[in-house]
Amino acid sequence: MLPNPARIRFTCQPGCINCCNQKGYVYLTEADVTRAAAFLGLSSAAFEKKYIYRTQRLIRLRKPARSQCHFLQTGGCGIHPAKPTQCRTFPFWPDLLQDEDDWKATKAYCPGIGVGNFVPLEEVEKALAEMRDEEE
Ligand code: SF4
Repeated sequence: MLPNPARIRFTCQPGCINCCNQKGYVYLTEADVTRAAAFLGLSSAAFEKKYIYRTQRLIRLRKPARSQCHFLQTGGCGIHPAKPTQCRTFPFWPDLLQDEDDWKATKAYCPGIGVGNFVPLEEVEKALAEMRDEEE
């Protein structure tokens, strides 16, 4: 059954890095690049040279050889306060909330879904809107 956006319980679980470990790419906005670079004390150009793969149509993080993300540490995200929109808004992505199978698969690896209080609808809608903007 598709989730009702107004009735999703979700609490990210301390120490869990399951979503970061899923195969796939992290796409960024220009604002994501600026924020992450500033957090690391780098210029946007230096950050980009080291961590970004860019084409005319997309910007994404490069992947290290043996993990999903350069910033993934044992205890979680190494740039948590400045993490990209895509990571920050998980699991409230339009694709996931509109596809029953994808939502079911996400629930299977994310122990935070279904836990805690209902997330205010405004927060869910804000995350969905941010992701839609990113995809445009
Ligand atoms: S998989 Fe879910 S609980 Fe685990 S880190 Fe990601 S959002 Fe949090």
